[in-house]
Amino acid sequence: MTTDELKALIRTVPDFPSPGIQFRDITTLLGHGAGLAATMKHLAKAAELAGAEVIAGMEARGFIFGTGVAVELGIGFIPIRKPGKLPIKTIGVDYDLEYGTDRLEIDPAAIAPGQRVVMVDDLIATGGTALAAADLLRQAGGIVEQALFVIDLPELGGAEKLRSAGVTVDALMA
Ligand code: 5GP
Repeated sequence: MTTDELKALIRTVPDFPSPGIQFRDITTLLGHGAGLAATMKHLAKAAELAGAEVIAGMEARGFIFGTGVAVELGIGFIPIRKPGKLPIKTIGVDYDLEYGTDRLEIDPAAIAPGQRVVMVDDLIATGGTALAAADLLRQAGGIVEQALFVIDLPELGGAEKLRSAGVTVDALMA
């Protein structure tokens, strides 16, 4: 399937989670077998080209696409978790949201020193989540030079922000 056909499988929901937001809902893509498989294949090809040795995905939708890519390539997957979820001593990064702050955590032993990590998430908007994730993966010893998304919202500047931090951003659609 082409990326235009995949784009047609994503639903835009107005005013979610708050008035004025046009939420891109991937539930409809996930429910389409051929679309889901093609999405994983497109992302996996890009991850392979980037030399991925391990995939990292952000909770929660990054788990879906990141795991699919890791399985396609036969490599491991690192879950980047919301706070308090991992049963071990974690390392974490706090980051700013539009209102308030949030935190991401990982197992510090999840990455071998110098291992090439490719990040995967469903969507990049302001880039705050992905930037925090890159910071965290680098703290754990990973080489983070590539992030992959199903959707980029370029007007929100996230991809540009990541590029400034040395992370190339590719997305299947805008
Ligand atoms: P950012 O940190 O780049 O501003 O926001 C990206 C994060 O928020 C991603 O983890 C993504 O899952 C979530 N997100 C923000 N807006 C949307 C949206 O419209 N659709 C989906 N599916 N996720 C979104």
